[in-house]
Amino acid sequence: MKFSSLPLSKEMLHNLGEIGYKEMTAVQEQSLPFILDGKDVIAEAKTGSGKTAAFGIGLLSKLKVKKFRVQSLVLCPTRELADQVAKELRLLARATHNVKVLTLCGGSAFGPQLGSLEHGAHIIVGTPGRILKHLKKETLSLEDLEILVLDEADRMLDMGFKEEIDEVLLFCKKRKQTLLFSATYTDEIMQVSKTLQHEAVSVKTVSTEKRNNIIERFYESSDAKKLEILINIFSNFKPQNVIVFTNTKIQAKELAENLQKQKIDALAIHGELEQYERNDVLVQFSNKSCPILVATDVAARGLDIKELSMVVNYDLPHQTETYTHRIGRTGRAGKDGLAFTLFSSYEIENIEEYKDETRLFEDALDLKRVNGFEMKPQYITLVIEGGKKDKVRAGDILGALTGDAGLKGSSIGKIDIYERQSYVAIESKLIDEAHEKLNRGKIKNKKFSVWVL
Ligand code: ADP
Ligand code: MG
Repeated sequence: MKFSSLPLSKEMLHNLGEIGYKEMTAVQEQSLPFILDGKDVIAEAKTGSGKTAAFGIGLLSKLKVKKFRVQSLVLCPTRELADQVAKELRLLARATHNVKVLTLCGGSAFGPQLGSLEHGAHIIVGTPGRILKHLKKETLSLEDLEILVLDEADRMLDMGFKEEIDEVLLFCKKRKQTLLFSATYTDEIMQVSKTLQHEAVSVKTVSTEKRNNIIERFYESSDAKKLEILINIFSNFKPQNVIVFTNTKIQAKELAENLQKQKIDALAIHGELEQYERNDVLVQFSNKSCPILVATDVAARGLDIKELSMVVNYDLPHQTETYTHRIGRTGRAGKDGLAFTLFSSYEIENIEEYKDETRLFEDALDLKRVNGFEMKPQYITLVIEGGKKDKVRAGDILGALTGDAGLKGSSIGKIDIYERQSYVAIESKLIDEAHEKLNRGKIKNKKFSVWVL
């Protein structure tokens, strides 16, 4: 169904067209009519199904821009997710002038958030702990809140945010619209819905959605052989980009190091990294400066990496739900995906529940050995110590590199601009040249320090 079948403003419809959203996704089609009608909604839909736009279009349609007060709050489990939601909301809000979206997350300095809050905002996106801190310090008021969104509610419960969420609710008025999004429907989620929501409309899209086209392969392996099998998988199937899941942070760290020793470029993301380190890793993975991300489930939740060619379960997940989540990240956007799972002989019993006719159980010995196999990234990332605060835009960086520095536009990859820093992906073989030229030259007539990540 088209968005134009909904009672949306001309500007919103036009903007959706510009962004390239033509048809609604299943979750949008089923939830938006109710959301726009002011109903409470609980929606279950898998990762990548367009939940953000479902609530985003809803809260933007309700927004009174002239009233410069916080009217919507989106609670998310992690900072990465909050950043992604805020990004999507800003994209959706392009058509409306002066909509202010602010993120408030733990792991960032408190001080600058105070400054931003003093300037006011319409929509706040953040993690429950930090939002609560601001509420208690009275640096944030939810007196005018109209819509509360719990995004990835199941994950927030998993991460132990239940208490904080309950406390945040004490600061909101009773009459408001509450939207709850979750990838799974558990009893606990239903319980939360019962306490927070009023006559909630329930939307389930999981069974009606087209199944991703994923080829699932399983290999039995001893712990000692796992690394070798993993590398053989890479050398046989030559993925562009891979997320390898481990069950613990220590394993994630060790595996990334072991891969690097074998000239397979990999970075780990796990709960022990500082916020800026996580960001550096995510930027490098998403801009193709690192082909392999080794991750724990918590760290990888909600990452929206388009076109992931392979997912590997280096460890068998403890629950089949986790398995479904993990592999759901590949085979999106109509492309075929590859999912590999390694399991140990002592997990033979657990593997029984995975057995069905669509899944292939193969012998790891059949994977050919390829001598001298390496995985190197297509790009290398340069960091520029200037960002939005310095009014640096992607065009300025592109201009500095292609203009004065004389690089071809085609050798420059993704550019990400953050508050105080920017990242630009440069074709690996040109990295030194680009680095040197940016160091010597100027961006927007200013000198910025530049370094290779
Ligand atoms: P979820 O929160 O359900 O995991 P997201 O909201 O992050 O999924 O959306 C996944 C991707 O789909 C995003 O890149 C988003 O821009 C895109 N998307 C959302 N709605 C549409 C639509 N109607 N048409 C095309 N792409 C869409
Ligand atoms: Mg989401």
